[in-house]
Amino acid sequence: MKLTFLGTGAAEGIPSPFCDCRTCENARETGGHNNRRRQSVLINDNLLIDLGPDIFASCAGLGISLRDLDCLLITHSHLDHFVSDNLMLRGKAFRLATELPELTMLAGPSVWTKWENSGGHDQVAGIQRHIIHPGQTVRLKEYSITAIAACHHLRIGDAMNYLIEDGKAALLYASDSGYYEEAVWESLNGHRFDAVVLEGTIWNRSPGKEHLNQSDFGRMVERLKSIGAMTDQTHLIATHFSHQSVGPHHELSEEVSQFGAQCAFDGLTVHILPDK
Ligand SMILES: [Zn+2]
Ligand SMILES: [Zn+2]
Ligand SMILES: [Zn+2]
Repeated sequence: MKLTFLGTGAAEGIPSPFCDCRTCENARETGGHNNRRRQSVLINDNLLIDLGPDIFASCAGLGISLRDLDCLLITHSHLDHFVSDNLMLRGKAFRLATELPELTMLAGPSVWTKWENSGGHDQVAGIQRHIIHPGQTVRLKEYSITAIAACHHLRIGDAMNYLIEDGKAALLYASDSGYYEEAVWESLNGHRFDAVVLEGTIWNRSPGKEHLNQSDFGRMVERLKSIGAMTDQTHLIATHFSHQSVGPHHELSEEVSQFGAQCAFDGLTVHILPDK
């Protein structure tokens, strides 16, 4: 399984256009890994998780085409994870010649409401609609995909994380996650992941209800290990960082490495090998 991080920032990205904090100013001056576009991850070449406001900039900057995309998973309806207009760009009016495969989109009810309210049209975008709820498993192309409830966007209530297997490796995609409810932990019993992508949104801040800081990140890792879902061989990657709570990439990399994690950056590609 190949993971490509198209964006690794939280809602505002880094540098946030209206902010002059140390992290944003440093990112403007130094660029590179200190810049973070809004979060998306491409799995292999055909499954995308989240379609946020920076999808054009990410794909253009990294030389990536989404032509072969046939699976799209949306975690929740926050602006950094789903922008309807970017899906409408799949329409025939916006491309030449190329016939695209049908794209199956899995998302919770509030994402579909956002899609409809902003004029989204399934047929124009060439999508097959699939409404998914936490606890459901779907077979899609070469993937087995299970949705679990995230402790995030609680006012709306249908934010999800995904367990994704491609027949070769198993991934837990946990952004935006918060610290899981007990029922979710029970549902993770018996799973073992080759890779875990975990949010570190409010890294240096006090604990939050809907995002992980450093200590809650550590609690998630310990709990995953205690139920056997993670081992020391599991590839752990931290992502989805806010300028309000992290420093430059090199400092952050050192901090997340204390948890055995790799710090994601825009353009990072990771090949996940099964731990067997
Ligand atoms: Zn987010
Ligand atoms: Zn800032
Ligand atoms: Zn969110």
